[in-house]
Amino acid sequence: NADIAMYRAKEQGRNNYQFYALEMKNKFLRRAVLEKGMRKALERNEFRLHYQPQIDLQTGHIVGVEALIRWIHPEEGMISPIEFIPLAEETGLIAPIGEWILETACSQIMQWQGKGFPLMRVSVNLSARQIQQQNLVGYVGTVLERTGLDPKLLELEITESIAMYNEDYVINKLNSLKRLGLQIAIDDFGTGYSSLNYLNKFPIDTLKIDKSFINQITDASDHNEIITTIIAMARNLKLKVIAEGVETVEQLHYLQNQKCNEAQGYFFSKPLSVEDFELLFRQIASAAAGKVES
Ligand code: C2E
Ligand code: MG
Ligand code: MG
Ligand code: MG
Repeated sequence: NADIAMYRAKEQGRNNYQFYALEMKNKFLRRAVLEKGMRKALERNEFRLHYQPQIDLQTGHIVGVEALIRWIHPEEGMISPIEFIPLAEETGLIAPIGEWILETACSQIMQWQGKGFPLMRVSVNLSARQIQQQNLVGYVGTVLERTGLDPKLLELEITESIAMYNEDYVINKLNSLKRLGLQIAIDDFGTGYSSLNYLNKFPIDTLKIDKSFINQITDASDHNEIITTIIAMARNLKLKVIAEGVETVEQLHYLQNQKCNEAQGYFFSKPLSVEDFELLFRQIASAAAGKVES
């Protein structure tokens, strides 16, 4: 019946409209809630850093950790950085949050060293807005002094798109950061930009191969031209290569065969809270002790 069909279409149209309106309203509300909450989150101590181990593929040892921020919102629960970091950038709150991240990560490494854990490098993500911050170099230097962390053990991760944004400005900024003695990594490498010219111009130490490439490896004997090329290029440029998002033993073996330097991913460990990381370290230590005894 044509009338009924038309009625149904109208009804569905209205429902769709209502659905979109509701979705828009929810997005808007959530954004407002998060934005308001973020202003208080630092003083209310709602941010946490989780740490994901980075493994040297020759020795099998944990040589570094990447610090990854989490927000434990009192009503909304755990909120992903993918959702709130862009909001923090838009509102400018990334400045105080970024300083908190850096200080917390550096002092955590020192605390772990004090507890007898092996000394590790720590990688901290920098967002676009932080690179543009006037006082970035100043506060990174201050944090290094205040925490006493050896600058060689700090690595700052930036994405290719940041590196391209304002070339000369970013090159100067990175050179000033490098003078503090720290290291610079390009995060999500291979996803951003079509020209590789900047690899020569920028003072970079490390390339982190994006997990979308690692995902494609299903077999240790796979042939992945992009990964092979990135690793060969990094070797020629004397850069270290870290593979991100390693989830399977096949991917691990593939990367070992390719002489990739380091790897990070769920195969080894998810990003862990401080407590869980300490547990992992004790397990590794007692397993090593067990091996020596037997
Ligand atoms: P990223 O820096 O590329 O971090 C790697 C992301 O991959 C992390 O997500 C990590 O949990 C996830 N990951 C690690 N191993 C695996 C794996 O084997 N499989 C899969 N599927 N994923 C894996 P997370 O923690 O949700 O962070 C997402 C992004 O948010 C980060 O990407 C980074 O761009 C940003 N971010 C996180 N923490 C911070 C921070 O402290 N400051 C800034 N500015 N950005 C941050
Ligand atoms: Mg990163
Ligand atoms: Mg990445
Ligand atoms: Mg990413």
